[in-house]
Amino acid sequence: MNAGGNADGTGFDVVVVGNGVLGLSLARVLARRGQRVAVLGRPHRPWAGSTAAGAMLGCFGEVTTSLLASEHGRAKLELGIQAGRMWPQWLAELEEETDGTAVKTAEGTTVILNTIGTAEIDDTNYQAIRAELTRHSEPFEDIEPADLDWVDADPISRPLKAFHIPGEHAVNSAALLERLESAVVQAGGTLIAEPAARVVHQGDRVTGVVLASGEKIGADHVMLAAGARTQELLDTLPVGPRIPRLVSGYGVSTLVRTVDATTPDSVIRTPNRSFACGLHVVPRSEGHVYLGATNVISVEPRDTAEMRDLVFLLQCAHRQVRRNLWNSDVTKVQAGNRPVSMDAFPLLGEGGMDGLWIMTGTYRDGLHLSPLLAQEFAARILGEQTRTDLEPFTPLRQPIQAWTREESVGIVVDHQIGIGYEQDWTIPVDWHHWIEMDLRPATLNWANEIDPEFTPPPELLFASRFDPELVSILRKYYATCREHS
Ligand SMILES: Cc1cc2nc3c(=O)[nH]c(=O)nc-3n(C[C@H](O)[C@H](O)[C@H](O)COP(=O)(O)OP(=O)(O)OC[C@H]3O[C@@H](n4cnc5c(N)ncnc54)[C@H](O)[C@@H]3O)c2cc1C
Repeated sequence: MNAGGNADGTGFDVVVVGNGVLGLSLARVLARRGQRVAVLGRPHRPWAGSTAAGAMLGCFGEVTTSLLASEHGRAKLELGIQAGRMWPQWLAELEEETDGTAVKTAEGTTVILNTIGTAEIDDTNYQAIRAELTRHSEPFEDIEPADLDWVDADPISRPLKAFHIPGEHAVNSAALLERLESAVVQAGGTLIAEPAARVVHQGDRVTGVVLASGEKIGADHVMLAAGARTQELLDTLPVGPRIPRLVSGYGVSTLVRTVDATTPDSVIRTPNRSFACGLHVVPRSEGHVYLGATNVISVEPRDTAEMRDLVFLLQCAHRQVRRNLWNSDVTKVQAGNRPVSMDAFPLLGEGGMDGLWIMTGTYRDGLHLSPLLAQEFAARILGEQTRTDLEPFTPLRQPIQAWTREESVGIVVDHQIGIGYEQDWTIPVDWHHWIEMDLRPATLNWANEIDPEFTPPPELLFASRFDPELVSILRKYYATCREHS
């Protein structure tokens, strides 16, 4: 390990805790600007989200009616739009600076509306994506389902409508991480293959971190970008309780070698549904496709795939996209953790102590946001003018309440019923109505029981019904929020 350091030999200008896509992207920008920067993290990236990501570079494809319903949701979309504009140059520079596997894998994104989707979720989100594309003058074109390249769905799950977004691509996340690492090293940055155990501070100023081995690394700035595991480091700091806690949006994805060695040219995806990022197929190299992805809120990050999530994902893919995936080889099963805050919005900005920065909570689209966040945080750390307002996502905040309690309950019920259809449930006529009739008041009572004032975002509200530990974390967090209000 090269300890590197400041002019006084005691440490670095910036220590970035976390070697996922966000940490490495920031380190690359800072190192290229002459900063002494170190990135901490084990090389195999345990619990990372980045390694399991598709990785779709999309923000329009991610649009949902519930995202657009709030000011914070719309602000998040704006970040995604800005990030989208940066990718062509970001990738070109990265490929020029380093050698390796090609990073970009898909040309454009094709969004399908299929018979498995529900009117409440898929129809409305399909329309919402188109409306936002139109509002932002982003090109897209309709495709006849019969003309869909590569799609051969089971007849009862077939697409009814489709359109193509030529400007939203995808990358190979493993290749991207490899190139980012090389770029950091080439620019003079240091990779330290160890996790941080805690952040060190003197009064209100952070002075570095202590590694798992006990060694101290000094730094003027400490950036926490350790994904869902960032919580462990926040717990070592006095400001920790004032920042929305992090849990994991654990997700399963797979790599498949197709039986006929074909791949689509573009991403093929449904709108977001079932609390997840929609079913998507992404071309990878040499006859391989990526299938993604599930999303289950979990207090502890996970590093293995639960059987039910894997079975669900694989069944969705061969039924809804291409039948001969059934005869294809699963070459890799990936489990990753999306960093999800207690209000489901990102934690981006100063961490409430001198020299402390937080860049996480990016949930489903942190990889897409990476060039933007890297540039924006580098500018903040260097004291330069910034171009993007990250204030809505400042980490020291009261929980963002993007939806009323009734709206959150409505979203939970719609998605819970949607999971039933995606799992191919067959129940007698009328039963959907009866189930929904009881589910709504039961979910509302549940929300009332959790807290009289604050309502968790829909996926946390849903997950908390089955997870007593999550309930106790939510209650404790809301009590702390009242203390600090
Ligand atoms: C299945 C799945 C599919 C996804 N698909 C997409 C997609 O298509 N597009 C998109 O934009 N986003 C996608 N995401 C979300 C995206 O992956 C995340 O938002 C993003 O990768 C977060 O990056 P990160 O660098 O903040 O964290 P991570 O990728 O989680 O990296 C954090 C790193 O920090 C390390 N670490 C942990 N603790 C410590 C410590 N104490 N000290 C040092 N290092 C530590 C970890 O080992 C890890 O390597 C997906 C996520 C999943 C799980």
